[in-house]
Amino acid sequence: MESVFDTTEASKYTTPLEMRAYTSRLLGQSEDLVLHGGGNTSVKATTKDIFGDDVEVLYVKGSGHDLKTIRENGFSPTRLDVLKRLAALPELSDIDMMRELKMSQLDPAAPAPSVEALLHAIIPFRYVDHTHADSVVAISNTPNGPDLIREIYGEKVLVLDYEMPGFILSKQVHQATQDLDWASCEAIILLHHGVFTFNDDAQTSYEKMIAIVSKAEDFLKTQGAWDCSLGFDADAVQCAAIEIAAMRAAVCQQKGGPLVGRFSADKLSTVESLEIAERGPVTPDHVLHCKRIAMISTGNHVEDVAKYAADYKAYFDRNQEGGLTCLDQAPRWVLWANKGRFVFGPNGKRLRVISDLIDHTSKCIQWGEFLGGWKALSEKEIFDLEYWELEQAKLKRKKATGSLEGQVALVSGAASGIGLATVEELLSQGACVVGADIVPSVTELFDGNPSYLGVQCDLTDSDAVKSLLDTTVRHFGALDILVSNAGVFPPSASIEELSDDGWRRSMAVNLDSHFYLLRESIPFLKLGWNPAVVFVGSKNIKAPGPGVASYSVAKAGLQQLARVATMELAPSGIRVNSVHPDAVFDTGVWTDDILTARAAKYNMSVDAYKKRNLLKATITSKDVARTIYLLVGKDMQATTGGHVSIDGGNARTV
Ligand code: ZN
Repeated sequence: MESVFDTTEASKYTTPLEMRAYTSRLLGQSEDLVLHGGGNTSVKATTKDIFGDDVEVLYVKGSGHDLKTIRENGFSPTRLDVLKRLAALPELSDIDMMRELKMSQLDPAAPAPSVEALLHAIIPFRYVDHTHADSVVAISNTPNGPDLIREIYGEKVLVLDYEMPGFILSKQVHQATQDLDWASCEAIILLHHGVFTFNDDAQTSYEKMIAIVSKAEDFLKTQGAWDCSLGFDADAVQCAAIEIAAMRAAVCQQKGGPLVGRFSADKLSTVESLEIAERGPVTPDHVLHCKRIAMISTGNHVEDVAKYAADYKAYFDRNQEGGLTCLDQAPRWVLWANKGRFVFGPNGKRLRVISDLIDHTSKCIQWGEFLGGWKALSEKEIFDLEYWELEQAKLKRKKATGSLEGQVALVSGAASGIGLATVEELLSQGACVVGADIVPSVTELFDGNPSYLGVQCDLTDSDAVKSLLDTTVRHFGALDILVSNAGVFPPSASIEELSDDGWRRSMAVNLDSHFYLLRESIPFLKLGWNPAVVFVGSKNIKAPGPGVASYSVAKAGLQQLARVATMELAPSGIRVNSVHPDAVFDTGVWTDDILTARAAKYNMSVDAYKKRNLLKATITSKDVARTIYLLVGKDMQATTGGHVSIDGGNARTV
């Protein structure tokens, strides 16, 4: 591992806190050092309080901030003298410690200080860097791990046994360093947890971390473990989309709620003895995202999930000492023999976190196997972290992130207008959404939001639609909600003038594409969570106008498709409803030319034409999107076969 410290870049930062943020971001750049919150840093400085008095401050990483992107405001300023006194207390519960840490803050608006703040306070150097480096932790997770670590690092590194993070850990370090000659100590390694380096200079502290981690990496290289493949077959067998959806359905059934999932090939799935994935995580904090162990599947989804749940319950019963509530018993990662692996999470962001953690777990397990056998901490130690009072308290505070969390939606015609507004609405309600459109910009929407995937697709091509469903299920594990919206409003033409091509084009987009999409979605919807379909129809079905025969006939056909689908799909619990918007002028369908032409057809001004409804209302894409959300959500679970007008009231259709 190389230092990426850049003296030119560093010269831009003048205060100790700016420098702290800079080298923290350097650590955050490497996923082998810190991954999704696993690691923290601090700097000690003197500042003035409101009375003009000097105050010794520890700026420590605030919770919820990531080292990869952290800025000065991501650090919490705490009174160093208070923290040192807390660290010297004989006993303190972690709940009390967190309360005291919050009260020691100099800025009540700053983020809550890291749970490892006391440990940073007692290390007598200006800069303290802490990572959960893969290589160091992986070596310690082997049968001779502790001895190997001591051998690799010698006398100059203080190596401590695993302790639970929080007050107990800071107490352990406090006691172990009472007589320590800090000047000759290069670093502290906490077995099964991570590394601390420190110095009065930011660059030196950072580069000491790089040096410590490089030593572990060099050891793995000289042992031949670094690139080891353990005989895994890299070309793991792939898995059909329907099998992916079936596995996800079984997991949701067990959880009693929806989770999104992702399938990928994983070399670990082809190893002879999958039980190595049942020996525990790289560091105990992974348990909060991934649960302690993987579920091993042989393809009997329901039985395999039931066995995992029973084993989890037994693990809970074995380890709990009363007063705790068992968490749900569904797995968060699954190794499927010779197929690959799944991860499961509540939304796209967490799915990415879990995927990344499992990528690193998979690599560390292979290193551990090479060094004599992967050996994580005992299940009791993992359990104590999973059911840590601070984590239990967090669960109680957890706000729901939306009523569609854990569900997967597919919206056609998503690049603009009603489709785009619907994607926005469903994302804001917590769903993972695939937006499909023939317009390429659909792939660039929502700025990398991990709960969104844009797919460019010609929906009038049934093979392309098949592949769209395959992509959807591989990316998010399922399909629960289909919003069939793609449409085109053809130029005005009387029946007498209408060309064959004009007729066919409208039928292809406004009718055929909806049929393809529904047909290909049904097998997945049958495995979906609270599955629902919404068709975007039109006021024209009941109240057509002259010059739009190809559009009105296609939309009328769509209504019949929806009615038959309602009957055919009800036995599978799939609800089918339609919305019939009119005069939604903020959509791509309504170009200025079309608007002027349609207004002229009725001898109206454009403004009068826009508000030609009973309420004289302006109707927006957002109004339609909101109604679609209500139809697919929990509040309308008894409604199927519904047709809802969103037109401000029309005398011809009421
Ligand atoms: Zn840590």
